Amino acid sequence: MLFPPKCVFCDAVVGLGETLGICRECAQKVPFYMSDYLMGGPHGAAHSGCDRVICALKYTDMVKSAMTKFKFSQRAEFGPTFGAILAEKIRRVEGPGIFSVATAIPLGEGREKERGFNQAGIIAKYVAMHLNVRYCHDLLDKREGAMRQSGLTGAQRDRNAKESFALAGGVKEKGLVKGQAILLIDDVSTTLSTINAGAALLKGGGAALVVGAVVASGMAGRD
Ligand SMILES: [Zn+2]
Repeated sequence: MLFPPKCVFCDAVVGLGETLGICRECAQKVPFYMSDYLMGGPHGAAHSGCDRVICALKYTDMVKSAMTKFKFSQRAEFGPTFGAILAEKIRRVEGPGIFSVATAIPLGEGREKERGFNQAGIIAKYVAMHLNVRYCHDLLDKREGAMRQSGLTGAQRDRNAKESFALAGGVKEKGLVKGQAILLIDDVSTTLSTINAGAALLKGGGAALVVGAVVASGMAGRD
């Protein structure tokens, strides 16, 4: 981590008393998503994708610019900050001891190489650490040649997402999916197509429960 640590939102130097990598001023403005679930809930109907989806923040300009910096500037302090925020929300709405495995939506080998890291994977690692859940890096594979989701319509996104992923080789045999309560993590979700497609594959592999968790979503509103 860089020192002195800087605020993930505004780059101000964060004082030692200010935890989480957020400065005092930005801490007052963090756009928390207040509802427990973005989709579904403990008593909601079962879904072919995620049983329910948790979201920590609204995707406002403040969050959007921090996420963009996280993706492209390789600043390591974003992972702990967003991981801790998401873990806290999950703990609050789900309670302790629900999940046996945590994993992330993969980025695809080409893009991961180009960028050097998968930001969803980094966030997921910190979430798993905070919740004391086993982290499995590679339950899902991104298929080579998968199209990017941006620029597609809703129906196209659903179809493209379904065709973009596969259950990773060997995970069924290793017993990492069947009967497991899986926490599936992504950084930002626009329409939930991607996370629901990933969840459907895990369910197809025998997962007992798949709960999606995203740091931020435009569906959570921007105001
Ligand atoms: Zn700040």
